[in-house]
Formats: sequence, structure tokens, C-alpha cells
Amino acid sequence: MRIIVTGAGIGGSVLALALEQMGLDYLVLEQAPALTEVGAGIQLSPNGVRILEWLGLADDLARFGVEPGGHQLKDWKTGETVLETPLRALVNDTFGARYYHAHRADVIDALSTRLNPDRLRLNSKVVSASQTAGKVSVTLEDGTLESGDVLIAADGIHSVIRNQIFNPEAPRPSGYVAWRGMVPAEQAAHLNIEKQSTAVMGPRLSIVFYYVSGGAKLNWVAIGAGDSNLQESWSQTASKADVAKSFEGWYDHPKGMVDLTEELFVTALHDRETLPTWIDGRIALMGDAAHAMLPYHAQGAVQSIEDAWVLARCLEMDQKDPKSALLRYEGLRKDRAQRLQLHSRNAERWYHLDDPDEIAHRNARLSKHAENSASGLTPQQVWLFSYDAEKAALGTDDEWRALREW
Ligand SMILES: Cc1cc2nc3c(=O)[nH]c(=O)nc-3n(C[C@H](O)[C@H](O)[C@H](O)COP(=O)(O)OP(=O)(O)OC[C@H]3O[C@@H](n4cnc5c(N)ncnc54)[C@H](O)[C@@H]3O)c2cc1C
Repeated sequence: MRIIVTGAGIGGSVLALALEQMGLDYLVLEQAPALTEVGAGIQLSPNGVRILEWLGLADDLARFGVEPGGHQLKDWKTGETVLETPLRALVNDTFGARYYHAHRADVIDALSTRLNPDRLRLNSKVVSASQTAGKVSVTLEDGTLESGDVLIAADGIHSVIRNQIFNPEAPRPSGYVAWRGMVPAEQAAHLNIEKQSTAVMGPRLSIVFYYVSGGAKLNWVAIGAGDSNLQESWSQTASKADVAKSFEGWYDHPKGMVDLTEELFVTALHDRETLPTWIDGRIALMGDAAHAMLPYHAQGAVQSIEDAWVLARCLEMDQKDPKSALLRYEGLRKDRAQRLQLHSRNAERWYHLDDPDEIAHRNARLSKHAENSASGLTPQQVWLFSYDAEKAALGTDDEWRALREW
């Protein structure tokens, strides 16, 4: 069986490493001339970390990843901690894998140095796909044709394959934008920011911050209602004065970090509608191409990592019948990823409540969740973190399936 993969982002790269480890025949086509990443942070929860560790990245993650003590929710005016759920130690003991914060460039570096160069073709933009009863083909921008038994589209939120084969609808603008920046930790030392995953939800504006690069950098992402003309882009710059102004009246950390940031970036936030199917014959979608979601649960990349492992295992187990392998993959993955798409969309309003009574009600509800749990973990964290992609692929994940979704 020959597998064609379009896109070598986090999802496509993890898929390539898993296929390589399982000894399958594959080719990855990536439009970019090199695999690089933007200056942004990423939260990697244990459900994704365990897969990266199976692929040999445990030492890399331990070197550049930062394990937060816990998740903190702070009051936007006073900086008081409204809720804290534990992560470090407890997460590893409970779920058998760690929770890391990392610089995206470090993650991409660790993945791309492991990719088999004979099976990765850069500068290869796929423009269309077609299939017959026996094979599937893609055409590249330069006219080259590549054929295989299955095609996996891991080509992101603007997926050409999704638009051509599944649904030509454009990504949905959420009306919100994300500003982001990074600060050398030593420059921010006077702010005394703890090694936590901190979220501060204010009226119509929120900010999340955490350390990356082994603790050497502090990464922040702020989200608020924004200019509807802005693009979805990782390289669009933003005005420091405008962002700093929006944090006036808040406690000192958010504005303090913005003031220290040399270059600020902004992207419009989009997601995708859920699809009735991710499979068309020999073609399957994965990652953002299948289920692009808003970033409120920090699960977009982690879900693409879960997809990649389950998909690779399904292809390995059903090599004589690739179409049924794809259907099995979809059956195992669609419900979980699509629930997260919807939860992430719902979280937007909940993150940005304006009314003081609603804010008090939300915060009390969050605290109650944690108080009601013996471990301090919320049902949402348990449902997210305890998912084991290997057990899912083997059909031995009854324990996880019996969990109540939050
Ligand atoms: C502000 C923000 C914060 C986020 N934070 C987190 C977080 O903390 N944790 C988390 O898990 N997720 C997070 N996400 C989501 C995460 O970034 C995405 O879900 C993830 O990058 C998707 O990975 P992917 O491999 O599916 O797609 P992509 O990363 O988009 O990769 C797609 C690849 O396909 C290539 N490609 C595209 N078109 C073609 C073509 N026609 N031919 C060949 N190649 C092509 C692209 O060049 C790219 O390399 C965040 C998102 C945002 C916007």
C-alpha cells in the first residue's frame, strides 16, 4: 500500500514518523521550501505528549518543554487566583505522560530532524486530487502527478483537498483576533510570574501566558473582538500601543508583558464547520483540514497528533483494504474531534463575558468543578488527557469511552 500525505505541519509530520515506525510505504508532499515555525508557543497536553514520546521525542520535550505547576484562572482586575487545578506531577502520575509548554519552533525542529528525507518532498504544492476504483492521484503546481492507494490531506485549515472533494466553504471568521508575543524571561523577572499555565478572562478580552524554551521565554496570547478585515496569518504584526491600551485597568502582569514585547503579531481566528464525513473513497482528511477549531482548549495540534497515530495504526492493521482502514479511522476519531470543535466555539463567549453577575457565576461554577473532584482535576481535563490513541486504535479503550464527557 502506498500512502500520499499532503502537508508536513505538526499533523502530517507526526503521521510520517508513525508510518515510518510502522514500516509503511508513504510520501509526504509539502508546499513550503523548508519546515520552519513561527515564534509562538504551544500547549501540549498528555494525550498528545504520550504519542510524541512513542515516536522518540521524550528527551527533546524534557529539554525544551516547560511543565507548568498547574492551570490558574486569575481575576482580571486584582490578579487574584480564582481557580487552580494541578498539572505537574499529578498529570504524569495519573495519565502516564506530562503536560508541556513549548516553543513551536522547538517542536517542529524535533519532528523534522527525524523525518526520512527520502520520503519528504518540499516545494511541492498540491493543487488537486482525483481517484478511480483502484488508485488516487494528486497533481502538483508544477504539473507533476503522484499516485498511491490512499491520500491523507493534512494540509491545514485552508486545505485544498477539503475544498475540492468535501466542502468548498471558506473557514468561518469568529469575529475575534489573537495578539501574541514573547519576552525573554530575564527581562520579565521583576513581574514574578509563576511557572503556571495562566488564563485571565476579562470583559471581552482574555490573555493566556506561560513559559517556553526551557523557561528562557515567556509567551503570551491575548484574544479579543477585533478588526474583521484582518487576515488569518502567523506573521501579521500588531501595534504595541493598541494592545497595551486594551489592558488598562487590569492588574499589572498582562500590560507588563505587552510593554516588554519587541514585536507583536495578530491573527484573525477562524474555525471550520463540522463535516458529515472525513472520508471519500481513498481520500481522508486529518488535523485542521478535518476539524479546525478555535484555540480555547489548546487542542488543535494535539488532536492532529491523535489523528495521526490512530490513522497510521488503522492503515497498518488493514493494509489489504485501505478504504476500510480509512472508515475505521473516521469511526474512531470523528466524534471526539468534532465535540472539541463545538466546545471550543462555545468557549468563546464564556471566556469573554461582560456582565459582572455572569462572570461571578462562571467563576463559581469553575471552582465547584474542581472542589467536587477528589484529584482537583476537572472532568474536562480527565476526558481530554486520559485518551490513549494506541488503545483507541486497538479498540481497548473501554475505560475512556465510559467516561462522562464534560
Ligand atoms: C492563536 C493560536 C493558538 C493555538 N494554540 C494551540 C495550543 O496551545 N495547542 C494546540 O494543540 N493547538 C493550538 N493551536 C492550534 C494549532 O496551531 C493547529 O490546530 C495545528 O497547527 C494544526 O496542525 P495541522 O498539521 O493540521 O495543520 P498546519 O499546521 O496548518 O499544517 C498544514 C501544512 O500543510 C502545508 N500545506 C498547505 N496546503 C498545502 C498544499 N496545497 N500542498 C502541500 N502542502 C500544503 C502547509 O504548508 C503546512 O505545512 C492554536 C492555534 C492558534 C491560532
